[in-house]
Amino acid sequence: MKIITLIHLRLVQLIILILFAAIAWHLLHKPPNISTDIYPYLSSITPTLVKQCQEDTIKFPTIVWEDLLAIHSTLSEKESLVLINQLRVQVSFKDLNWGKLPSSTIKAIRRHRDILRQYPYYQPHKYTFPVHGTTWFDDSFGADREGGSRKHEGTDLFGKEGTLIISTCGGKIEQLGWNRLGGERVGVRGDDGNYYYYAHLQYISPQLVKGNRIETGEVIGGMGHTGDALTTPDHLHFGIEIPNGQWINPYPFLAAWKLWTK
Ligand SMILES: [Zn+2]
Repeated sequence: MKIITLIHLRLVQLIILILFAAIAWHLLHKPPNISTDIYPYLSSITPTLVKQCQEDTIKFPTIVWEDLLAIHSTLSEKESLVLINQLRVQVSFKDLNWGKLPSSTIKAIRRHRDILRQYPYYQPHKYTFPVHGTTWFDDSFGADREGGSRKHEGTDLFGKEGTLIISTCGGKIEQLGWNRLGGERVGVRGDDGNYYYYAHLQYISPQLVKGNRIETGEVIGGMGHTGDALTTPDHLHFGIEIPNGQWINPYPFLAAWKLWTK
């Protein structure tokens, strides 16, 4: 009788242990929640606006980038000017006189500023355009591929075979080498947590080692047409996957990064 109770006790302990392990595993592997307003907002910012703000910060170096872009991207030109003029004479963001702006609008500006601080993709020179040389590209994200069986999850940047491809940001080399679709491809886990994917390369830089660090502007390889791009013109397929597993449209970011590339 006593032995049976002991076995029962051990069994219960084991079940509890397994349960805890399962919960811990689930929590560790759960994809992080990314607020749904972040990328729609970031994607709505045009290169023209980024350029305008960049020129403004050159003229008025004390203006904080996120303050400027958050105001400009939320308000009309006329409405922004009232606030920007205050920033120009070094009024800080928290001391701004908002005038008659509705509280919902002020809240939106604050939210946009928070997003820009957390996701500094548009901050000049923080990220780099991945093609070092002549290239042309347009927005083909979501276009049909393989007769509509899958969607295009990135941007194609066309150019001459061998054109240098460089890393848009610092991070860790997570994938390196051949896969069926991507051909010679490199995957970088950016310091921002996103996965940056460079595919169809002619060659991969021999300097790269899986698991090692890579810095912004470091050579990834040469533009090519490997993988499923075998019959298409040479291009870099560039993709960005955010930590929840969703591929986002890199086009708006590429268009902005192009601004500070010679
Ligand atoms: Zn592509």
